Amino acid sequence: MSTNTQLFERAQRVIPGGVNSPVRAFRAVGGTPRFIQRAQGAYMWDAEGTRYIDYIGSWGPMILGHGHPDVLEAVQKAAVDGFSFGAPTEREVELAEAILAHVPSAEQVRLVSSGTEAGMSAIRLARGVTGRSKLIKFEGCYHGHADALLVKAGSGLATFGHPTSAGVPPEVVQHTLVLEYNNIEQIEQAFATQGDEIACVMIEPIAGNMNFVRASVPFVKRIRELCDQHGALFVFDEVMSGFRVALGSAQSLYAQAIPGFRPDISVFGKVIGGGMPLAAFASTRAIMSKLAPLGPVYQAGTLSGNPVATACGLTTLRLIGQPGFFDALGERTRSLMSGLDGAAQAAGIDFCTDSQGGMFGFFFAPELPQHYQAVMARGTDTFNRFFHLMLDQGVYLAPAMYEAGFVSAAHTEQDIADTVAAAANAFRQL
Ligand code: PMP
Repeated sequence: MSTNTQLFERAQRVIPGGVNSPVRAFRAVGGTPRFIQRAQGAYMWDAEGTRYIDYIGSWGPMILGHGHPDVLEAVQKAAVDGFSFGAPTEREVELAEAILAHVPSAEQVRLVSSGTEAGMSAIRLARGVTGRSKLIKFEGCYHGHADALLVKAGSGLATFGHPTSAGVPPEVVQHTLVLEYNNIEQIEQAFATQGDEIACVMIEPIAGNMNFVRASVPFVKRIRELCDQHGALFVFDEVMSGFRVALGSAQSLYAQAIPGFRPDISVFGKVIGGGMPLAAFASTRAIMSKLAPLGPVYQAGTLSGNPVATACGLTTLRLIGQPGFFDALGERTRSLMSGLDGAAQAAGIDFCTDSQGGMFGFFFAPELPQHYQAVMARGTDTFNRFFHLMLDQGVYLAPAMYEAGFVSAAHTEQDIADTVAAAANAFRQL
């Protein structure tokens, strides 16, 4: 049996940083990443046989917990019938129908293999439809690693952003404007000065890549109005929030608060694939008909609509669509949050939490931050120590302060109680 340390050393010889996606390397929190051997329900076991209560759930997809028997059966059956055909299948149609049944803003959907691909394609579509180049995104929102979206804010308002990655030429991001999340004044000014050049505004409506920060209702409402006034498209990146915060995704929550609210394009991933490589972007028939083969906007994929991935996603959507699923999941998540709140308070620690459905965030701060700078203002030391104190007690939280957490239907009351007890212990040691 290899230890995590041995595996990490071996991994670093053949894989850059030892990982296939950077956050897994534990760079933010320090220490050795756990090499996971298997997972079941709410638990994961590492290479050394240590069990963890899993609050990452593969960064969102595992809303039913790991290895749900119905999902497993569907995947096994699909695999026997064939891994990939490069030709259409009935199951893709079924999954498209199942997604659209919960998303009244969309009439058609195209399946792809990752959230990055879906976000990148949504931007191309928005630009193709409007014939404009500029896009607005918000600091702290992550939309995948397409070049045009790897941008940090420029030095002042209405200046275009700078690449956040080497290998992204400044010209590629010269059309990307990065604004502060929840700042109505800034986006009003941006539209006032360049409204007729803006193809789209892209947002994580409940941002899960700067911990957990909600776009305020007035902010979303104002963006909708500005987009309508100026002929820009409003793109909801629901890769994380989609089918996770509610069956109708975050957009259903904003539609409750803002009568008639709809985004123009929605981007999904994670839950709709149930842990398999699957994502999607969706919109009205008029907008989606601009895509190849019907229209001039090109987009394609060898493995798009993969038969095994669609089987996994379809069964996952069927199970989360059962009556009461989200009520129970939301209740479980809230009970975890109130337990953590109580334990922090008892230890005299500044702490606050928020959650929606099966997605949550917590901050070592007296009140919930509203944008990226506020999230980062407190520094990472306390979180990092808390993370390791929890990991040592068998609770696997996201290994970075700026990531959201996830509760699944497999987490039991006992798991929540054990987690809260571990947290109480950790808070006392901070
Ligand atoms: N958008 C959001 C909101 C995400 O959280 C992520 C991934 N965490 C992506 C896009 C990119 O998805 P993927 O990692 O599947 O490319």
